[in-house]
This record gives sequence, structure tokens and C-alpha cells, in this order.
Amino acid sequence: MMDVDHKAIAITLNQFASDNYAGICPEVWQAMQAANSGFASSYGDDLWTERACEKIRCLFETDCQVFFVFNGTAANSLALASLCRSYHSVICHDLAHVETDECGAPEFFSNGTKLLHIAGPDGKFDLAEVERTITRRSDIHYPRPRVLSLTQATEVGTVYAPEEIAAASDLARRYGLRVHMDGARFANAIASLGVAPADISWRAGVDVLCLGGAKNGMAIGEAVVFFDQQLAHEFEYRCKQAGQLASKMRFISAPWLGLLEGGTWLKNARQANDCAALLADELAAIDGISIIYPRQANSVFVQMPETVAAALRAAGWYFYSFIGSGGARFMCSWQTSREDVLQLAKAVRESCATIP
Ligand SMILES: *Cc1c(COP(=O)(O)O)cnc(C)c1O
Repeated sequence: MMDVDHKAIAITLNQFASDNYAGICPEVWQAMQAANSGFASSYGDDLWTERACEKIRCLFETDCQVFFVFNGTAANSLALASLCRSYHSVICHDLAHVETDECGAPEFFSNGTKLLHIAGPDGKFDLAEVERTITRRSDIHYPRPRVLSLTQATEVGTVYAPEEIAAASDLARRYGLRVHMDGARFANAIASLGVAPADISWRAGVDVLCLGGAKNGMAIGEAVVFFDQQLAHEFEYRCKQAGQLASKMRFISAPWLGLLEGGTWLKNARQANDCAALLADELAAIDGISIIYPRQANSVFVQMPETVAAALRAAGWYFYSFIGSGGARFMCSWQTSREDVLQLAKAVRESCATIP
């Protein structure tokens, strides 16, 4: 999906290309500032990191093991590597970030574990297809399925309901697979579902969650959360070897306090989701535009005439294009305002009106 040409130094309009175009939210900035006083022990042996881990345990209402890494690719890759041996395989969706957007990092960090990607409607698994992939072969020539990896919210902005995750986990368990969740937009899924974080993670059978921070309002950082603590065995060594152990860890961990204290994570996710909901309503009402996936989190996927896409780009709007011609993704963030959405909708409406 990475075909945005964005050379502009200063982007003046608020943008819809990705939620990582947004800045750092004020609460996170504040938390970094607060951590910037005096000296603190390095490599995570500090009070900020201890408090951030504790905060995440509170959020999930369980005694989980938490590690902070720099980005989502590292979080996913190292988490998957810790669940697998090199001859294992990971079942993921065709559109999964681990498959399409991590440059082979999961395979690299697991020394050869293979990703088996399968289709399913709306970015979600079709469980019959998952079961077929698990049971298709059991001979020594086939990389042994070991992990089922779900993305929540999915890459196309849909959200798995708690029962769907539980059903996927049950299936995985039945065949001895572990369950990994790529939660780069976990907060958006919670804002959409209105359930407790535990309900779509460990209570629904997830063993390891990669919890997104950057797209939720942080500058840098994701948390790897092990609900099954045995799976975290020696994980800190993996992080260090992969270049993912921050020496000034407090500046990676303290921002989580900014995000989690006072519910900023949820406020940010709601803002992004609400803007996407408004955008979906606005765009759905325009002749010539169709919404192609149910809008459940903070993105809106549409099909529109290529001339409209070109006109929007020429006018300075940024968004991702994909799936041939005219397919577009508009992504909202904590920083998107209703006014931004209405401006974009107006631009789309005007551009559509000029088509004969
Ligand atoms: C953004 C994103 C990630 C994290 O990507 P990094 O650029 O490595 O931080 C992981 N999974 C999904 C689904 C994402 O959208």
C-alpha cells in the first residue's frame, strides 16, 4: 500500500495517508518532559519503566510480562520468533502487516519460520480456511503450523468481535497453536467495541499482544505483552540482540504513562474512529464513491474514479492507493479534526461533481 509520494517538507493540510503522519499528542509530550529530569538507570532498570509496565498490567487486569521496543515490525517479529522454532510456520491473513509490510523480518528473526498467508473477507480470517491450512499436511516436508496471528484492528479497518477472537483461539488451541495479535491499532479496536482490553486479548485466548503506541499518539514505541509468561523466557535477550533494547529506556516507557494515565489512549482512538465514521458517512453520500470495507475503526476504504483520486492528489491531499485503479484508503488519527474531515469530503464532492 506504500505508494504515497510525500516529498513535501511542510504538509499544510491535515492528512489522511496514515495515522503515523500525526504528531505526538500533548499528554505523551508531557510525560516525556516529566521523565527528563536528572539521572535514571539505563536499559529499563528505572522507575518510569516499572510504572509503565505496572500500568499495562492494570489495563489488562492481569500479571503479564511487558517489553518496550522501538516499532511494530520489531514487536511482531520478535514476538513471533519467541513462539516458533525455525521449522515452524505462522498462519496469517493475506493482507497481514507481518506478511506484506515487514520486509521478511518475522522470517529473519525466527531464522526461517515460514508465514502461511490465507484469504478471508474484510481482512479477517475464514476459520474453515485456517483449519484447512493447519490440517492440510502433517508430513515432515511441510513447515509445522505453530502460531495463528491476528491483526486487531485489521489492515482494512475492520474489527474482530471478542467471540470471533475466542473462536479463532479455540481452533488454534485445538491444534496446539499459539495465538499472536498484531495490535498496532488495538486502541482503535477497543474504542470501536467498547469492551475491556482483556476481553479481546487474554480472555479471548491471545498469548502475546503487540500493543501499538506510535499510531495512538506516541513518537516511538510499541509494547510486547506476554499473557503467557513462560513464552517471555529470555525475551530480553532477543530484544537486545535485535537492537531493540533502548539504553535510555525511560524515554520509550514514560510516554506510555502519558498515553495510559487518564485514558488518553482511548480518547485518542475515539477521536480517530469518530472522524473516520464521519468521513464514511460523508463519502457514502457522494455519487461515484463506494465504501469497500465496513468502517469499524479509524480508516475508510473507498473505490472512486481515478480522475477524482488524481484531482485530490493535485490539490494536496495525501492518501494511500491500492488494488488497481481508484482504490483508496483514508486514515484518521488522534490529530484529525471533524473540520479536516469535512474539508476532505468537500474536496471529494466537488471533484466528483466535475465528472461528466
Ligand atoms: C503500522 C503497523 C505496524 C507497525 O509498523 P512499524 O512501521 O514497524 O512500526 C504493525 N502492524 C500494523 C497492522 C500496522 O498498521
